[in-house]
Amino acid sequence: MDTDLALSWVRSFAAAVAEHEERLTQLDSAIGDADHGANLRRGFSAVLAVLDERPPTSAPELLTVTGDTLVPGVGGAAGPLYGSAFRALGRALARPETGLATALAEALDAVRTLGAAAVGDKTMIDAFAPAVEAFARRSDAGDDLAAAASAAAEAAERGALATTPLQARRGRAAYLGPRSVGHQDPGAASTALLFRALADAAT
Ligand code: ADP
Ligand code: MG
Ligand code: MG
Repeated sequence: MDTDLALSWVRSFAAAVAEHEERLTQLDSAIGDADHGANLRRGFSAVLAVLDERPPTSAPELLTVTGDTLVPGVGGAAGPLYGSAFRALGRALARPETGLATALAEALDAVRTLGAAAVGDKTMIDAFAPAVEAFARRSDAGDDLAAAASAAAEAAERGALATTPLQARRGRAAYLGPRSVGHQDPGAASTALLFRALADAAT
């Protein structure tokens, strides 16, 4: 991944977060504490400010700075989770010959390690895991980045929608037990925006 693509991806996600802030917060008001959109918007405003002030000269550096800014800059669960994902992307891409499929898989692992959630627990993993899988499958089949990212975005969007009938087993929504059923998970919804932003940046 080159610096321009990394920058477009982060900028595009920041714009999507700003555009969808209200919807994300609405989703979080049903099964959480109504701050997911605001948390991410605040975090990515801080990221954009840092990137403007000290423009990174490589994709790994840019993604690492993004992660380092998100971890303390976003309240709640999403900051550390997204922060660790971006840090893992930066760490992976800093290794020579490491492709985006591998980097995305390591980002997913970082979120899993930190949050201990599995697919079906009604969290961002429900969008992240199928997206990473779709990206790898299409990359292995020889598709270019734009096609692989677009398949990943579709998989993430399907995964996010599929959280609606689930009962939450991780995060704040788990405290609601069966009352968490019937609402889309806010973190899965924002993760779908993350992969749509990658597809947009890659096209
Ligand atoms: P908080 O719940 O602390 O207010 P946010 O509202 O910003 O944080 O983020 C909530 C989202 O974080 C949830 O919708 C879920 O997708 C995600 N999340 C929470 N806990 C976990 C976890 N243990 N593993 C993965 N994702 C999680
Ligand atoms: Mg919340
Ligand atoms: Mg909160």
